[in-house]
Amino acid sequence: MIATGTRCDTSAFKGAGQPHVFTLHSLADAERLRTFLRDKQPRRAVVVGAAYIGLEAADALRRNGLSVTVLERSANVLLRDDARLTAAVRKVLEDHRVELRCGVTVSSIEPDRVADVPCDLVVVSCGLKPNVEIATEAGVTAGRTGAIATDDRMETNVRGIYAAGDCAEAMHLVTGRPAYIPLGTSANKAGRVAGANAAGGRERFPGIVGTSIVGVFHVGFAMTGLSVEQARAAGFSPVSARIEARSRAKYFDGKKTTVELVADRATGRLLGGTVVGEDGAAGRTNVIATALHARMKVEDFEQLDLAYAPPFSTVWDPVLIAAQQLIKEL
Ligand SMILES: Cc1cc2nc3c(=O)[nH]c(=O)nc-3n(C[C@H](O)[C@H](O)[C@H](O)COP(=O)(O)OP(=O)(O)OC[C@H]3O[C@@H](n4cnc5c(N)ncnc54)[C@H](O)[C@@H]3O)c2cc1C
Repeated sequence: MIATGTRCDTSAFKGAGQPHVFTLHSLADAERLRTFLRDKQPRRAVVVGAAYIGLEAADALRRNGLSVTVLERSANVLLRDDARLTAAVRKVLEDHRVELRCGVTVSSIEPDRVADVPCDLVVVSCGLKPNVEIATEAGVTAGRTGAIATDDRMETNVRGIYAAGDCAEAMHLVTGRPAYIPLGTSANKAGRVAGANAAGGRERFPGIVGTSIVGVFHVGFAMTGLSVEQARAAGFSPVSARIEARSRAKYFDGKKTTVELVADRATGRLLGGTVVGEDGAAGRTNVIATALHARMKVEDFEQLDLAYAPPFSTVWDPVLIAAQQLIKEL
């Protein structure tokens, strides 16, 4: 049973070994960073990579009083080809005076700067690589993503060798293809299945839909399934709708909630969604994720009987309002 996880590979960065450069993978990494913050009192931080750990690090460093710049190679954040989501994250960062620069490829880290940004501390939060070496040595093959390929019993191509968690792929239930989305949620589930089967059981791990959430300051950014661009790349003909609503009744301090849903024009099947807001983003995304598992069509999703009372929701839940809008688009 191989469960070797990932590592943060900083070999692409010249100067990554300097004492003011950190990764955030283990508890020891976190303790080293905290000691540095206490002893050296840095004032300016650069975070390399705007996936969820980078954004959480930017949030924490800013709350600790540092000025923070986030540098991201791609045009978008959170490893999701989604310009609207990026714009929403950027707005929250800017509200807290954190600068986000996309389209910046970092290749070297200088003692006092990264790219042209002066800094005393650097957090590298990119370059995640699955630890597949012992598997490869044992004759286990990796999939196209570079992580270990398994069947739905989490058994590799070598009989009697199982793999799960951050070192392994999982089936993406929307695209129907293996994906590499390393998260604790799926690592736990796939690990149980692999362990049970290694001990003689017959369990299956059907797969994932790529559900995740990150808190950036006071706002939750949650996503599941595919963005419009990801859906297009996967061969669907996506159509989307985006709405703004309140998380609960106005007189119960309802917060602005943005929901975007994506569906396939040809079949009406729901393909993905994002929910952004201070209140209830996880629960609403989980409703969408459940619909993705059930391969629901938008017209069926719109009829879901969801809970309502003014302190908790609105009579039309924001995800249902988004579904109504998406039906019009379809
Ligand atoms: C800062 C941070 C925040 C996160 N937050 C979230 C979150 O909010 N939600 C979420 O779903 N996920 C989150 N994750 C991801 C989650 O932690 C991982 O998906 C999960 O830990 C993966 O479990 P795993 O057992 O596959 O790998 P790991 O937890 O990485 O464990 C692998 C273990 O194998 C060991 N190992 C590696 N190679 C060998 C070898 N050759 N021999 C022996 N041992 C070896 C490693 O040292 C490690 O202890 C976060 C991760 C990080 C780093």
